[in-house]
Amino acid sequence: FALSFKQDVDIEGGWKVGEPVPYSALTKAFSLIEATTKRLEKTAILTSFLLLVIQRSAKDDPKSLLQSVYLCINRLSPDYIGVELGIGESLLVKAIGESTGRNISLIKADLKKEGDLGLVAMNSKNSQKTLFKPKPLTVPFVFSKLRDIALSAGHSSQAKKVSIITKLLAACQDFEAKYIVRSLEGKLRIGNAERSVLVSLAHAAVLAERERSGKKWSTEQLATRLEEGANVIKSVYSELPTYDEVIPALLEVGIDGLREKCKLTPGVPLKPMLAKPTKAIGEVLDRFENKRFTCEYKYDGERAQVHKLEDGTVCVFSRNSEDMSKKYPDLVEQLPKCIKESTKSFVLDAEAVAIDRETGKLMPFQELSKRKRKDVRVEDIKVRVCLFAFDLLYLNGEPLLQQSLIDRRALLRDHFIPVPGEFEFAKSNDGETTDEIQTFLEESVKDGCEGLMVKMLDTDASFYEPSRRSVNWLKLKKDYLAGVGDSLDLVVVGGYYGKGKRTNVYGAFLLACYDSDSEEFQTICKIGTGFSEEVLQTHYDELKPLELEKPRRDIKVGGAKPDIWFEPKVVWEVLTADLSLSPIYTAAQGLIEDRGVSLRFPRYLRIRDDKSAADATGPEQIAEMYERQALSQTKGKSKKGGD
Ligand code: ATP
Repeated sequence: FALSFKQDVDIEGGWKVGEPVPYSALTKAFSLIEATTKRLEKTAILTSFLLLVIQRSAKDDPKSLLQSVYLCINRLSPDYIGVELGIGESLLVKAIGESTGRNISLIKADLKKEGDLGLVAMNSKNSQKTLFKPKPLTVPFVFSKLRDIALSAGHSSQAKKVSIITKLLAACQDFEAKYIVRSLEGKLRIGNAERSVLVSLAHAAVLAERERSGKKWSTEQLATRLEEGANVIKSVYSELPTYDEVIPALLEVGIDGLREKCKLTPGVPLKPMLAKPTKAIGEVLDRFENKRFTCEYKYDGERAQVHKLEDGTVCVFSRNSEDMSKKYPDLVEQLPKCIKESTKSFVLDAEAVAIDRETGKLMPFQELSKRKRKDVRVEDIKVRVCLFAFDLLYLNGEPLLQQSLIDRRALLRDHFIPVPGEFEFAKSNDGETTDEIQTFLEESVKDGCEGLMVKMLDTDASFYEPSRRSVNWLKLKKDYLAGVGDSLDLVVVGGYYGKGKRTNVYGAFLLACYDSDSEEFQTICKIGTGFSEEVLQTHYDELKPLELEKPRRDIKVGGAKPDIWFEPKVVWEVLTADLSLSPIYTAAQGLIEDRGVSLRFPRYLRIRDDKSAADATGPEQIAEMYERQALSQTKGKSKKGGD
């Protein structure tokens, strides 16, 4: 916290209380953050900037801080509202050309050399002679223009976007063009994850409070307050992931009042709780020794968080907080008859699973993925779904996250009415012996499920942990038991040209995991098996527009040499025979030893379009898998020796 204490970062933007935040102050902070690789320093720089924003905001003005934070995470609204940037390269090149008078082909040549359109925009601007100094840009102005761009639709929208961007660029000075262009592209590339932004926000709020109150805290007291503040904001945000609510509340009631003020609210999807993989029933029993637990079917569908608001509105959200109400109008339509009259508002955690209505048989995920993603009309639906509810997170005005699973489950069963084939409670079994679990596992597989979810029931440890991959939820998949190991979700970062029959498509791919601490992609394997010709064509069509000549700077390449690089965006689920150490790949490098970890005989399973690149498997999970494998091999050997 050393730097946060000193607050000696020079981003003084010279603005007065009540004036709009200058965009130059924000971009100065960005450039300082980008220039360092040290996490604490990045946090401290942003803290200093946000502290200035808080101190200089007029009373009752949460907007300055809100918009500044949104620009720091490169978003314009909460996730679930989905006002997105991500403007195409050609449109931006055109706007840079128009605002600087430079030839498009020169801009493209620079882009090839630099690999960063933001930098090209900044250099193009700075080499241009201007007679008049433009009026300085402000955070509210830039924010509103970015929103106009993101929201403009219709056939003349391209021209409108170019015109707004051209005007914005014309007003840019110093670093501003670089970051405006990067924001528009949808990638800020300053190496500051949202988690760090939350920490800076908390630190700035604590420091502002200290100055306002004139309290004299010792260094230890301050350190404790900063840490507590960060924990409060992280936990509040995981329950209510919208800055639109959290920031005004933070300014109004301060860190100490935040938990009381910001609670899970129907209509705002929370980040779901996730499970840890286990390889054997023995491992489950070790983990839950002397504890009560329950086994539930692990359905093979898509996670669906279903919200009902007091006014009757029903929304369905994906694992990634995307609004899927338009993908599942049938679920929304089916639901009312499954809700008891006394159930006025709720948040359900559930799995939507494809089902054959004639036979009642569950269908695999592949069947579900045949459904259209948007604007589905109930009368056109061919693949029907059943909702399997496994948790209740909110009921009639009360968040239930802190209650035990036993209580939440009882409330769920009391307040809803199962309708076979449409709405059911996840099948569960509270048996505790290996035999009971084994039998239930086999049953689940026979019924078309992936295996079991084993969940803690004990009252003191079974609260709902949003966004955590928790040891209180274990997944036991049939694949693990066959000795194949857990599947991984990996990002496609490179491609190899195909040979023979595959010359018109990519024949193999370079995959990477994602380290959310350093915000980098670490290469893990080359994969060329498990693909049908048809699938390869689909991948080609999806990946071709993402081609890059050079690896992006946030890809830790190692010795991998694909023929072509991709924008890291597409996530695949992959199985592997086992993991080995590798001098070529960089995954989990430094966690086990200097070499990275690689997958042996990786096999493609499916696209995970419910996951973004930042949701890919992380290096700690990979190191954990490697270590577990090493452990089971030693155990296996000593067992053999014993025989
Ligand atoms: P994967 O789906 O590949 O297992 P994941 O990262 O999406 O991985 P995990 O935490 O690993 O999520 O597994 C939990 C997922 O299993 C949930 O996100 C949910 O979609 C699904 N699921 C199916 N049945 C249940 C259940 N009874 N309880 C909880 N989750 C379930």
